[in-house]
Amino acid sequence: MALMQISEPGEAPRAARHRHAAGIDLGTTNSLVAAVIGERAVTLGDEQGNQLLPSVVRYLAGGSPRVGLGDQQFVHDDPHNTISSVKRFMGRGVEDIQKLGDRFPYEFVQAGQGMPRIRTVAGDFSPVEVSAEILKALKERAEQALGGGLEGVVITVPAYFDDAQRQATKDAAQLAGLNVLRLLNEPTAAAIAYGLDQGAEGIHAIYDLGGGTFDISILRFSKGVFEVLATAGDSALGGDDIDRVIAEWILEQADIGRDADQACLQQIVHHARQAKETLTERDEVEFTIERPDGSLWKGALSRPVFEDLVRPIIKRTLAPCKRVLRDADIGVNDICEVVMVGGSTRIPLVRDMVGAFFQRQPHVDIDPDKVVAIGAAIQADILVGNKPGDDMLLLDVIPLSLGIETMGGLVEKLIPRNTTIPVTRAQKFTTFKDGQTAMAIHVVQGERELVSDNRSLARFKLHGIPPMVAGAAHIQVTFQVDADGLLSVSAKELSTGVETGIVVKPSYGLSEEEIEHMLRDSLTHASDDINARRLREYQVEAERAINVLQVALDESGERLLSAEERARIDEALAALEAVQGGDDYLAIKEAMAHLDRATAEFAERRMNASIHDALTGHKVDEICPD
Ligand code: ADP
Ligand code: MG
Repeated sequence: MALMQISEPGEAPRAARHRHAAGIDLGTTNSLVAAVIGERAVTLGDEQGNQLLPSVVRYLAGGSPRVGLGDQQFVHDDPHNTISSVKRFMGRGVEDIQKLGDRFPYEFVQAGQGMPRIRTVAGDFSPVEVSAEILKALKERAEQALGGGLEGVVITVPAYFDDAQRQATKDAAQLAGLNVLRLLNEPTAAAIAYGLDQGAEGIHAIYDLGGGTFDISILRFSKGVFEVLATAGDSALGGDDIDRVIAEWILEQADIGRDADQACLQQIVHHARQAKETLTERDEVEFTIERPDGSLWKGALSRPVFEDLVRPIIKRTLAPCKRVLRDADIGVNDICEVVMVGGSTRIPLVRDMVGAFFQRQPHVDIDPDKVVAIGAAIQADILVGNKPGDDMLLLDVIPLSLGIETMGGLVEKLIPRNTTIPVTRAQKFTTFKDGQTAMAIHVVQGERELVSDNRSLARFKLHGIPPMVAGAAHIQVTFQVDADGLLSVSAKELSTGVETGIVVKPSYGLSEEEIEHMLRDSLTHASDDINARRLREYQVEAERAINVLQVALDESGERLLSAEERARIDEALAALEAVQGGDDYLAIKEAMAHLDRATAEFAERRMNASIHDALTGHKVDEICPD
């Protein structure tokens, strides 16, 4: 596939002064902000020196919300008003959120068509507004550390984020008063932090195990450009699961029933998480746990026992690793570098198992929970114009094919999945009916052959097509996906130049599970789809034949056909009409063949008549100079 080069709009002139720019990792569990200071990209801490800002917003009655804090306990004390993991809801509709399961303690309210909101004591807030609070806190932190306003930021998003999720992230930034230079894929940011863009060409694997999510991405770096070849993951797998298995182990060891009260269970999960983090550095950790009856349990967890507990969880990350290699059509030996991202990759066993899988020592030198923010900061510094002449080109792929609906409810794909962005593709379509003056454009995303099996993204109409016979108008439909992954579609009638278009901004997007599901479906239903496509094609063909014949009969039926001939054609026409809408494509095919035979003579006479008309009034040699 040809690589498209991104030219930065208006190559920045040599910067007279340093412009303040920052990179933001807006994470599910933790968020960070980083900036290039001097020659180095560093994460920026709060007054206490904490670099990680928990992605938690607590709304209070009559007061501004509190962001991050050491507020983990509020998640437990005041769950309805303490919003965590809001990233999971970005760009999603209520139905999408319901599909995520019922593990969220929030009440979602849906007003009209807009985004769902979370009900709190301080009012109802959309995920975009909640995220904006986190971004505002990071903005403030950066402006204090840098001593001035930010001119622009780069915000990272998971590589699989769809249009709606990216747009929601941009909207949140706008609400927070940030100028987004670009959204950047998290794995690409990590690769930049390690300077893989300064190294040799090659394919890299970025393994990201965070608090609640796992992502694996395959990037190709070539000709100065990063391209995301494929992504996979598990949106419900991360450090939280590790905390849970350790907590269960403690319950068992301390002989505490699962029916223990909430506060006791929360205390145990808290101990479990601390133990996990301590075991990264030490070989054993000791506990003192208070049982519900007030008695104490003292115990110890050793590294080998811990590893036996978490091994199955880490193993679960390897299936997506296999899948992503298959998707990218490469083998383990094609991978040059493996980069570790996410707090959970501090666990030595994770490093060992991932290293063994990829048969390579993974990169761990940069703190795995800071590496994404650092890469984003490096990119922001370049984009804001602090390094004239150093322009980095970044490419991503679209996760699912984009296309439009054609006659019969079929999908014509304009941009196949995994195409690198930015990209522009155009295709010509034509009118179906004589005198058709408008055309409805229905934009869909997915891999299946039928529109009804794919996701509908947008609809619009091109008006003002000059009336012509069917098939004569040339309508060029252009799909353009920009560097942030946002799609715009335009349609233009080429003879008149009338044009219309839209920026696709769906009200909510697809979850990774849905993407997975749709991909799986497209494979398992491939043969159904071919049959369905064949049926639709015959149906469309039949409709076209019926239309054409009706026009011809109206025009010259009286003149050219005897009553008997006309009756035979009408009978064949009725037979085709009777089966045209059915689902037996063989019957349609047969009825079309029958109609074809019944009208062959009529067609020939029409042809002769039109030649006769054309010749009338002309000398033969005017028409045939030879
Ligand atoms: P996210 O990308 O989801 O926002 P992070 O990359 O910040 O999340 O990862 C957070 C997770 O990393 C938490 O589950 C946390 O317990 C875990 N974590 C942080 N430090 C360690 C450590 N030393 N050992 C094991 N897990 C850790
Ligand atoms: Mg992360």
